[in-house]
Amino acid sequence: MEKSSIATIVKHTGSHYMLSELPKWELFPAVIRGKVRLNASTTTNPIAVGDVVEYSVDLDSDQPMGTIDKILPRKNYIIRKSTNLSRQTHIIAANLDTVFLIVTIEFPETKLAFIDRFLLTCEAYKIPTVIVINKRDLYDDEYKEKMEHFEAIYRGAGYRVLEVSALTGENIDLLREMCKDSVSLFSGVSGVGKSSLIKALDPSLSPKIGEISQAHLQGKHTTTFYEMHPLSTGGFIIDTPGIKGFGIVDIETEELSTYFPEMLRVMDDCKFRPCTHTHEPGCAVKKGVEDGIISEERYNSYLGMLEEETKYRQ
Ligand code: GDP
Ligand code: ZN
Repeated sequence: MEKSSIATIVKHTGSHYMLSELPKWELFPAVIRGKVRLNASTTTNPIAVGDVVEYSVDLDSDQPMGTIDKILPRKNYIIRKSTNLSRQTHIIAANLDTVFLIVTIEFPETKLAFIDRFLLTCEAYKIPTVIVINKRDLYDDEYKEKMEHFEAIYRGAGYRVLEVSALTGENIDLLREMCKDSVSLFSGVSGVGKSSLIKALDPSLSPKIGEISQAHLQGKHTTTFYEMHPLSTGGFIIDTPGIKGFGIVDIETEELSTYFPEMLRVMDDCKFRPCTHTHEPGCAVKKGVEDGIISEERYNSYLGMLEEETKYRQ
C-alpha cells in the first residue's frame, strides 16, 4: 500500500533526507526523485532543511524509504554565496518564522559589517530577525556603554534587541517563549555562544548541539549539513555552525538601501530618483545621518556594501 503525504525536511545526511510531519517529531528517511532534482535551480542543494515536501512511501516494505516527489513553494529561505566571486549558492534553510542573530559585544566582538550583511539578507528574503546579545553577564562595567551604543544603533534601525546570558540564564525564559510554535534559525559567528544558548533553552539537546563544529575542529570531512532540533517546550531550532559570512545574492545595487529599514523610511524624500544616497543634493538619507536619525555606523556599512557590489559587478 502506498501512502502519500506532506512533511518537513529536518536533516540531510548526504545519502538521504530525514523528514517529520511537524509539529509531530517522528523521523523517517526519504530520497529525492530524479525529476525533482532536475527542476531545482543553480544552488548546490536542491532541498534545504525546513523545506515542506510531498512524499510517498510504500508501507508494505520492510524498511520503508520515502520518496520526495515535490517541493512545496517556499515562504522564504536564506541563502549563502561562498565567496564574492562565486556563482555557487547554498540554501541554508527554508520556511523560517524567525532568525535569531546571536552576537557578542566583546569576547569575541561581532563585527558590525557582518551583522549588517546578515540583516540585509534577512530583509531581502523577508525573514523577521531578532538580535540577541549573549554573554550579558560580561558587560556590566567597562563594556556597558559599548553595549548600550550597539543597542541604540539597532533599535534605532527598527530591530528587536534582546540581552541574554546562557551562563546566568538571564532572559532565557523569554527566548524560549519566542521560539514556541515556530521554526527558528540560530546564527552567528563562532564563539558567541550559540551552542550554549540552545543547550540552555533545552538541556536534553546537549549531545546533539555543536556536533558538526566538533567534527570540523577534529578535521573530519563533513559538508556542513544543517539540522533541525525540537525544543521540548515547543518549537524547532535550526543550528548553523561555523558561518563566516554571507555573500549577497541576487540583490541589485540600486536595491541595497531599501533593505536598510531606517533608510527605506525616509528615501521617498530624496530629491533625485534613483538616489544612491552618496553624492546627490537633497538626499533624505544623508540628512537623516546628519540629524542623527540614521546611525553613521549603518550608513558606513551601506557605503561599504555599495562599493563592494559595484566592484565585483564590473
Ligand atoms: P558557539 O561557537 O557560538 O556555539 O559558542 P559556544 O556555545 O561554544 O560558546 C563559546 C564560549 O563562550 C564557551 O567557552 C562558552 O562557555 C562561553 N559562553 C557561552 N555563553 C556565555 C555567556 O552567556 N556568558 C559567558 N560569560 N560565557 C559564555
Ligand atoms: Zn538619497
